[in-house]
Amino acid sequence: MASLESIFGINVFNDAVMRQRLPRETYRALHKTIDDGRRLDPEVASVVANAMKDWALERGATHYTHWFQPLNSVTAEKHDAFISPMPGGAVIQEFSGKELVRGEADASSLPNGGLRSTFEARGYTAWDPTSYAFIKDHILCIPTAYCSYSGDALDKKTPLLRSMEALNRQAVRILHLFGRLDVTRVIPSVGPEQEYFLVDKDLFDQRSDLIFAGRTLFGSKPPKGQELGDHFFGTIQTRVQAFMADLNEELWKLGVLAKTEHNETAPAQHEMAPIYAIANVACDHNQLTMEMMKKVALRHNLVCLLNEKPFEGVNGSGKHNNWSMSTNTGYNLLEPGDSPHESAQFLLFLTSVIKAVDEYQDLLRASVASAGNDHRLGGCEAPPAIISIFLGDELTEILEALEAGASYSGREKTDMTIGVHVLPKFPRDTTDRNRTSPFAFTGNKFEFRSLGSSASVSDANVVLNTIVAESLRQFADELEKADDFRTALHGLIVRNIHEHKRIIFNGNNYSEEWVREAEKRGLLSLPSTVEALPCYTAEKNVRLFEEHKVLSASELRSRRDIGLDSYAKMINIEAETMLMMSRRQILPSVLDYAASVSGTCLSLKEAGRELKCGPSLLSELCGEIDKLNDCIETLSDVLNHKPSDESPEAAAAYMRTKVLPVMAALRASADHLERITDRNCWPFPTYDELLFSIQ
Ligand code: ADP
Ligand code: MG
Repeated sequence: MASLESIFGINVFNDAVMRQRLPRETYRALHKTIDDGRRLDPEVASVVANAMKDWALERGATHYTHWFQPLNSVTAEKHDAFISPMPGGAVIQEFSGKELVRGEADASSLPNGGLRSTFEARGYTAWDPTSYAFIKDHILCIPTAYCSYSGDALDKKTPLLRSMEALNRQAVRILHLFGRLDVTRVIPSVGPEQEYFLVDKDLFDQRSDLIFAGRTLFGSKPPKGQELGDHFFGTIQTRVQAFMADLNEELWKLGVLAKTEHNETAPAQHEMAPIYAIANVACDHNQLTMEMMKKVALRHNLVCLLNEKPFEGVNGSGKHNNWSMSTNTGYNLLEPGDSPHESAQFLLFLTSVIKAVDEYQDLLRASVASAGNDHRLGGCEAPPAIISIFLGDELTEILEALEAGASYSGREKTDMTIGVHVLPKFPRDTTDRNRTSPFAFTGNKFEFRSLGSSASVSDANVVLNTIVAESLRQFADELEKADDFRTALHGLIVRNIHEHKRIIFNGNNYSEEWVREAEKRGLLSLPSTVEALPCYTAEKNVRLFEEHKVLSASELRSRRDIGLDSYAKMINIEAETMLMMSRRQILPSVLDYAASVSGTCLSLKEAGRELKCGPSLLSELCGEIDKLNDCIETLSDVLNHKPSDESPEAAAAYMRTKVLPVMAALRASADHLERITDRNCWPFPTYDELLFSIQ
């Protein structure tokens, strides 16, 4: 393999390439747009477009595309060749400034949640110059935001950029109060750890559930699962290692800072984590990572499963969203710091997150809601559906001492007047890191662990940026008016700790006691997508998003409805797939097997040997076959009686309360049959093969 340095970013039109290829004036003007969000001059855009095209052609590109992220959580692209006709039948390759900065996307089939009717289907895409253009499969991809002509955001990038702006506005106000006048920008940084499964493609191809739903809908747990803990951080299988090496190379070429790779908890489960980046770039890169994982897997005759719950009985896959805020001067605002000044500032930003998470638990829960993720959250393998914060014992004690006006009696006794003393050192990254918490402070960042593996990280970060912006807005309003900054700051922090400490929980989030305790504390428990998504349009949340100009009421409604609609559709696909597999594969196979058992019994009887276990074997088989058939009938019936013309909310609720329980019963019956049927008669590969066959 070529060295990392020689391939890193070779397919990216990054800063080094721009500096080299753009006239100095153009480069400077473009940087003003990138750094300060200034509008791009059309003439500058033309020069950039031309340089970008020349660079792309040299690298073998033939087409360009405005690459965007519609509301279905994947990415969209429509390729246009650089081709342009010349008199006399010749062609030249062209790319104008206009084509770079703005595109038309007649994408009426993409979900819009009522934001656009089909007769005005056109939307437009606009270049996000803060995320570099790149080449993928001979296509020059230009990261863009996607809006309707009336300006409604039809994608996941627009609100993310708006939320970053909201956070920036409020955080800079706070920093100026602390006298940090050199700070002109605050940006959220994100490092998403991505979990995934790999299965053999030959086995995958034999299972309709994997093909249509991306997860198994049948399958009895094999004798061995993840209980020995021998897969986590285990030696990586040769075939998987080859996949990972190939994946890293592709990602590095695209400028993705792929860093950590390891085997995860469940057999056949793995993880990749990049080095963190500015939130919108991290989001683009995570989308590219998921796409490359799927593509590269196929080259190795593997299929990468990104579904949140591909297999029952072993862990599912999530995405840990590491999040922090830093200044343009390179300072991480969630770093405790070494001086009294820095400690006070850290405590203020920490408190802003505590307040935000407590006041908007519902939004955080809604931001990770999907049909797939419902199987993980609360399943004692991932954080529960109840949102709380882990701070670790020492930091919690410090906050408690502050609140009580007492001195902190940790290792060294410290007077806790804010702004006067340095925070006592507390260990970062110690063994007390609590893996069960949905939202954990890990030394200099928060780790939001509830995201599903297939989700765009945009939703969660839009919420995080906006709710913290709101805390900071309130803090800045109060502190800007104060006569004595230090006294006001102390009072504000102490009051907010007092008001929001109920959200802090350092214990075991999987325990029954926590569910009861959380209820006593008045924390929200939203068990499924059906309860979570409507929170987007709660009055307080609409007010929040509108005030910070991140999402309007109709944009919020569209997101809620698209989420509920996809939930209902996904479960419908799963249910239909189960019906197909059970009617056309499982039932015929078990009937054949029952007939062969009965034939064996009869012929043995004819030969004068009565098989003692014959009747019980047959009756267990026949009894379960009848049950299976009953479940098939019931499932078919509930699907036929789906309410028509109902709201997305009613459709989703119907799938959850009426359809999911019948699917579970059908699965239980089929899985029982799998356990008592000759494996040569079973119509598709089983869990033991799927989970343990890759060497
Ligand atoms: P783990 O949580 O598995 O111990 P690490 O602590 O190494 O892993 O970090 C996990 C992720 O957090 C990585 O993607 C890393 O780049 C990211 N990260 C580290 N610091 C920050 C930060 N200040 N802001 C956002 N993400 C960060
Ligand atoms: Mg982590």
